[in-house]
Amino acid sequence: MMRVDGVEVAARGTLLEACRAAGAAVPAFCHDPRLSRGGHCRSCMVEAGGRLLPACTTPARDGLEVTTGGERVMAYRRDLGELMLAESSPGREVGEALAAWGADGARYGLAQARHAPDRSHPHLRVHLDRCILCRRCVRACEEIQGQFVYAIEGRDAGTRLGWGGGAFASSACVACGACVATCPTGALTDADRERMEEGAASGVGATSREAQAVRTTCGYCGVGCQLDVRTARDRVVQIEGAPAAVNRGHLCVKGRYAHGFTRHPDRLTTPLIRRGGRLEPASWEDAIAFVARELLARRGAVAGLSSSRCTNEENYLFQKWMRAGLGTHDVDCCARVCHAPSAAGMRVAFGTGAATNSFEDIERADLILVVGANPTAAHPVVGARIRQAALRGAALIVVDPRRTELAEIADLHLRPRPGTNVPLMNAIACALVEEGRVNREFIAARVEGWDEFRAFILGQRPESAEAVCGVPAAAIREAARRYGSARRPMMLHGLGVTEHMQGSETTMLLCNLALLTGAVGRPGTGINPLRGQNNVQGAADMGCQPDLLPGYASPAEPAVRRRFEGAWGRPLPERPGRFLHEMYEAALAGELKAMVLFGEDVVQSDPDTAHVVRALESLEFLVVQELFLSETARLAHVVLPGASFLEKDGTFTNGERRIQRVRRAVSPPGEARPDWRILCDLMTATGLPQAFGDPSEIMDEIARVAPLFAGVRYDRLEGDGLQWPVESSDDPGTPILHAEGFPRGRGLLSRVEYVASPEHGAALTLVTGRILEHYNTGSMTRRTANVRLAPGDRLDVNPRDAAARGIGDGARVRVASAHGETHAIARLTDRVPEGCVFLTFHFPETGANAVTGPVRDRITGCPQYKVTAVEIAPEG
Ligand code: SF4
Repeated sequence: MMRVDGVEVAARGTLLEACRAAGAAVPAFCHDPRLSRGGHCRSCMVEAGGRLLPACTTPARDGLEVTTGGERVMAYRRDLGELMLAESSPGREVGEALAAWGADGARYGLAQARHAPDRSHPHLRVHLDRCILCRRCVRACEEIQGQFVYAIEGRDAGTRLGWGGGAFASSACVACGACVATCPTGALTDADRERMEEGAASGVGATSREAQAVRTTCGYCGVGCQLDVRTARDRVVQIEGAPAAVNRGHLCVKGRYAHGFTRHPDRLTTPLIRRGGRLEPASWEDAIAFVARELLARRGAVAGLSSSRCTNEENYLFQKWMRAGLGTHDVDCCARVCHAPSAAGMRVAFGTGAATNSFEDIERADLILVVGANPTAAHPVVGARIRQAALRGAALIVVDPRRTELAEIADLHLRPRPGTNVPLMNAIACALVEEGRVNREFIAARVEGWDEFRAFILGQRPESAEAVCGVPAAAIREAARRYGSARRPMMLHGLGVTEHMQGSETTMLLCNLALLTGAVGRPGTGINPLRGQNNVQGAADMGCQPDLLPGYASPAEPAVRRRFEGAWGRPLPERPGRFLHEMYEAALAGELKAMVLFGEDVVQSDPDTAHVVRALESLEFLVVQELFLSETARLAHVVLPGASFLEKDGTFTNGERRIQRVRRAVSPPGEARPDWRILCDLMTATGLPQAFGDPSEIMDEIARVAPLFAGVRYDRLEGDGLQWPVESSDDPGTPILHAEGFPRGRGLLSRVEYVASPEHGAALTLVTGRILEHYNTGSMTRRTANVRLAPGDRLDVNPRDAAARGIGDGARVRVASAHGETHAIARLTDRVPEGCVFLTFHFPETGANAVTGPVRDRITGCPQYKVTAVEIAPEG
C-alpha cells in the first residue's frame, strides 16, 4: 500500500494510476491509457520521497508518500506552463490546465504565430502553433491505426510535428481520426469539430461539447463500431468513437466523417408515384393505398429484396410481410451477392453459418490467416486490429491475388490466380496431412469423414496445385507448416472467397483446415467471415432468405411452418422461395409480376446490369424504398422515402453476431419515415395489421418466434450488446461458437474437386471490390466530403499489362467483356499481378457491373464478381 495526498491506495502500476485511484487530479498531457507510455511532457510531476517524479513513468511502490498539489509541484507546473506558452499556443485541455496553473506568458513571453493552419484535408485540420510535441498523435497513429503518418522533425527550436512534407492532404493519412481523438491541444482537430466550435462561438446554436451524445451503431460495414453522435438543430455535427468492445474508441473515415448525406439535398423527402411516365410527389396515404392495391392484385406473384442497411426489426417485418401478408417465400437480401456462400459452406461443415469467434480474438491469435479479404479498406477498424496484432508479433498469412496493405506486412503472401482458391486450399490441407500436422485427438473426437477425406486429399499435392493456382508449392507447404504449428490460428475471410463459382465449396475447404488442426471452438481460432454491409448478418438472421425463416428455421418443414403460422396468424405458402437471380428470371418469364426492393440498388450492385434492368422493366409493378433516387429507384412505379441509421431506432447485428442498439440522433428529412413504420403501414394496408408502437416491441416478437434470440430484450442490449445465441433471459450470449460440439454433431470434412470457371484462363481477369473511402454503391459516401478523397472509380492495371496495350497512368480506357463494356480511368500499380485488373463499383458513372457476368456460386447463386474475362484498350 502507499498514500497519495494522505489517501491509502494499492501500490499497483504507475504513480499516475495510483494517484487517479486515490482520486487525485494529476494532469498528464502526453498520456492516453490506450497508448504506450509517453513521459515526454512532464506535466504529471508529483512529489514523492523528497523528489519530483514523473507520475506516468514511475512505478508505484509500497510505502511511498505522494503529494500531488503541494507548493513545490505547483511552482514546477507554473514554470512548465510558462515554457510551453513560450513555444506554443495550446488549446483544449492543455490550454485550460495552463490557465488554471496561473501560467500567462509573464515569465518567458508568448509564442509568436509561426505556422499557418493547414486546411488542405477535407476532414482534418492542423494547427501546428498549438502543438506541445506530446507525441500522442504519433503513438495513436502507430499503435491504433498502424499508419505511421507522423514523426517529430527538426531540432531545437525548429522541432515540429511532421508528416513527410507538403500539405497535410498529400500525407499517408487514412482519416481514421485517432490522432484527432487523442490530441489534447487542438493542434490536430477535425473540420466537424472546428465548425461546431465556431458555431458555438458565434452563437448560431451549435451544440456544446458537454451536450449528451447519442450512442449508436455505425451504418456502414459489418464491424459495427459504436458511435457517439453529437447534434445541433436536428443535424449531425460531429461523430466520435465510443469506448466499446468492438472499436475501443476507434473509427474509420466512413464511420467518423461520412454523415453529411443525412441532410444532402438529394435525399428523398416525400413519396413519389409514377404518373404519365414521371415520378411525382404524392401523399403517404395515396402512396400506401396505391402500393397495397397493386401488390394485392398480384398476390402470389410478388417478390421482395430486403435491406442489409436496415435494422433487424425492419428486416423481420419485411420477410413476415412477404410470407404471411403476400403469400410468398420469394424474399432475399444482399447476403445473396456477398456472404451466402460463407453461411452455406459453414453450415455444411459445422451446422451453422456465422462467424465462430469475436473480434477480440484477433489479439489472442498467434497466427492470423486472411483469405480473400482487404480489411484495411473494407473493414478498417478490424483491419487496424489485425495490423496491430501482426506488428506485435502474431504471424500473418495473406491469401490474395492483389498486394493488399496487410499483404505488405505479412510473413507470407500467397497470390493465387483469380478463381483458383479450391486447388490452393486443397493443397494446404494435403500438406497438413502429408506432414502430420493434424490434430488426431480432435479429429477422433469431433470430426466426421476422416478416412475418405485422407484418401482424397493426398491426391491434391501442392506440387500439382502450383500449375493451376500459380502459388509455388514451397509457399503452400510453408503456409501449411505455419498454420498447422500455430497454437491459436485464426482465420478471417472475405468476398475473395465467396464471390466465386465455387464460393461455398471454398468456405468448406477453409473449415477443413480448422477441423484438421482443431482450430475451432477455442479463443483465438475459428472461421470468421468479414461481413460486408452493416446488418447483412442480421438480415439473414431475421429470415430474409427464401429457404430460411427467422433464426434459421426451415420453411420446408411442415412443423416449422405450423409454428410460424401460429405466431403470425396466417397460413404460409408451401412453394419454396426463389433466390434473387431466380426472381429476375421469373420476372423475365412473366411469372413474377411485382417486386418490392427495400434499400438495395440492384442496378448498380448486381452483376450483368443490362440483364437486371431488363428483368425490372418486365415487371408490372416495382416499389423501391430508399434514401436517394438510386439507379434502381429511377425504374420504380412508387418510391418511398426511408430513414438512415442516424434517423431511427432498432438494432444491427455485426459480423461477430453481436446485436447492438441503433438510436435515433436526428429526424428523417421532410416526410421521410423510419422504415419500420412504413412497413407496418404497408402490412396493415395489405391485410396483416401490425400495431407496434416501438422497435423494442418488434424485438420482443422476434425473441418469441426464434429460439436463437429468445433472451434478447432492449434493456439487455445496453453497453456492448449480446452475441447470439442468446437462448434465455439470463443467457449472457456466446462469444465463441462450437466450444463443446457442432450443431450438426461432428464437424464434416468436405471433399471438393476443382472446377474451372468458364471465365477462367483469359489474358486479363477483372476483379471488382471496394476502397476505403466509399461504401458499396456509394449512395451515402459519394454525398459526403469523402468524394474529395476519392472522386471516382479507378481501374488498377499492372504496368506490364498497361505497356503491352499502350495504356498510360491516368488514361481513360475501355473495359469490355462478353457481357458488356464500361469505361474507367487507369491507375498503373503492381498491387495487381500481371493478368489481373481491379475495378471498384462505387460510382454509377462507371457502372462496373456492366461487364460482370452471369456465372454464380454453384450452391447459393452468389455472383462470381471476382472472375470476369475482360480486355482493355485505351480510348481514342
Ligand atoms: Fe463504420 Fe466499419 Fe468504419 Fe467501423 S470500420 S467506423 S463499422 S465503416
